[in-house]
Amino acid sequence: MQSEPSIFTRIINKEIPADVVYEDDKCIVIKDINPRARVHLLIIPKKPIATLFDLKPEDKDLMGHMMLLLPQIAQAQNLDGFKTQIHTGESGGQEVFHIHIHLLGN
Ligand code: 5GP
Repeated sequence: MQSEPSIFTRIINKEIPADVVYEDDKCIVIKDINPRARVHLLIIPKKPIATLFDLKPEDKDLMGHMMLLLPQIAQAQNLDGFKTQIHTGESGGQEVFHIHIHLLGN
């Protein structure tokens, strides 16, 4: 467990503002604050799992839910294609230790 809430938990808890494009009981989708594509969104689970290394078997449905959301969100953004990235661990370029999927489209 993390000792203090991640920036994404603070966004989920509405303690910090973000541009929210989708939200349900399991996850939130926000615009990246520093976009690297015309559309750059972050799909973030409300459960604060730090990295892919920390996933448990019981997180299977949650991760499947996020994967199924990706094409729906992309279509809602009028994208006919997109890239996804999940940075894992410091050496994997991860900056925020709360799992998130980058959705990038132009
Ligand atoms: P990663 O951990 O996958 O390497 O990158 C974290 C991503 O979160 C970065 O693309 C960064 O721009 C984004 N980010 C960091 N802090 C915030 C924030 O407070 N709000 C938003 N919307 N995005 C953030």
